[in-house]
Amino acid sequence: MLVVQKYGGTSVGSTERIRAVADRVARTRGEGHDVVVVVSAMGHTTDELVDLAGAIVDRPDAREMDQLLATGEQVSAALLAMRLISLGVPAKSLTGWQAGIATEPVHGNARVARIDTSALKALLAQGVVPVVTGFQGIADGEVTTLGRGGSDTSAVAIAAALGADLCEIYTDVEGVYTTDPRVVKTAQKLAAISYDEMLELANLGAQVLHPRAVENAKHFGVKLVVRSSFTERNGTEVVAENQMEGRRVVTGIAFERQVARVAVVGVPVEEHALASIFSALADRGVNVDVIVQSVVDEQAVDVSFTVHESDLDKAEQIVAELQSKIGFKRIEKESPLAKVSIVGAGMISNPGVAAQMFVALRDAKVPIHMVTTSEIKVSCVIPADLVEEAVQALHRAFIEAEAVTPLTHAR
Ligand code: ADP
Ligand code: ASP
Ligand code: MG
Repeated sequence: MLVVQKYGGTSVGSTERIRAVADRVARTRGEGHDVVVVVSAMGHTTDELVDLAGAIVDRPDAREMDQLLATGEQVSAALLAMRLISLGVPAKSLTGWQAGIATEPVHGNARVARIDTSALKALLAQGVVPVVTGFQGIADGEVTTLGRGGSDTSAVAIAAALGADLCEIYTDVEGVYTTDPRVVKTAQKLAAISYDEMLELANLGAQVLHPRAVENAKHFGVKLVVRSSFTERNGTEVVAENQMEGRRVVTGIAFERQVARVAVVGVPVEEHALASIFSALADRGVNVDVIVQSVVDEQAVDVSFTVHESDLDKAEQIVAELQSKIGFKRIEKESPLAKVSIVGAGMISNPGVAAQMFVALRDAKVPIHMVTTSEIKVSCVIPADLVEEAVQALHRAFIEAEAVTPLTHAR
């Protein structure tokens, strides 16, 4: 078998941990498998590099920021390769460009465009373990990074390009849980989750996998397993929908902090203001999440939307600049807020799930400020200081109260 193994920050967080990872790689090799390793930066290195940049300048140049952040992974890759070599396992560390990872020419959040696998294949043919820096690639000769948490995506992209039999994501929890096990002690490890549900959870704030890793795994049919680098226990398989054997209506609960809301009050109906407001925000690179428009009367509507807290002032300013053109009454801001979401493919065939969510939140005394739904998720925007209570209440209502039902019964 050809296995791609990705080790996250905590898993390579100290020299001791790097030794343990080397032992695991050596063991996998000893079982007769070919291995490509992808590593994250050690521990909180990337956060520290971000802080360093922030201590030097207010708004770091994007190219230089990528040059800086890409160094973290180079440290862990070289250390791991050294350790493997000393154990008698031929290994070689490779940066993103040495591994042939080409991305689109964007700094800070680039997508992988293609992988020239010749270097990786040549090493594998010689029996050498490539140890690749995650989170980075190259575009037009420039170093790019894939967005925070992006090493997962590096691993899946390499697995897809090499046609690997398996991509293992080693992390500091034992798999994908019904919610963040750090917030809900009774969270349960899932034996399997579908690509679509995992993608929703990842997009809605569950850090355990980078959303683009899931997207690529689904697209290329990569066999993906999330498991712990600290134990030998089975992890969670991310599989196609038709391979799911049984499920609850709600598979998992995700949350995001640092949400902020902007309300544009008293927008004249005839102005078609949605188009101008959201085009202006998009043009200036502000990511908008939940949007609600409510009709006040025949003349006016209120429009409110959420953004990441760090974009709140920018969003307010952009909208304020439109006041003379649109003629709305006023802008209101609200933060800190959070967003809690329930996700489950079983919702499609079970009406009333949203209602159950509202009841659970009401009983937990969590006010709901905004709601948004899709086929397999419901999200509520709530006050930030109630996020843990909300997640715990939803976990009790949807996970602890409901047994897993075989699919044939649920549908
Ligand atoms: P790594 O450094 O290995 O990439 P991350 O910190 O990116 O690890 O992701 C693992 C973390 O994701 C866990 O420590 C856990 O707190 C968090 N997490 C959030 N939601 C979930 C979930 N549903 N299942 C498992 N872990 C989750
Ligand atoms: N080191 C990068 C980060 O902290 C990438 C990763 O860990 O996946 O975001
Ligand atoms: Mg991660």
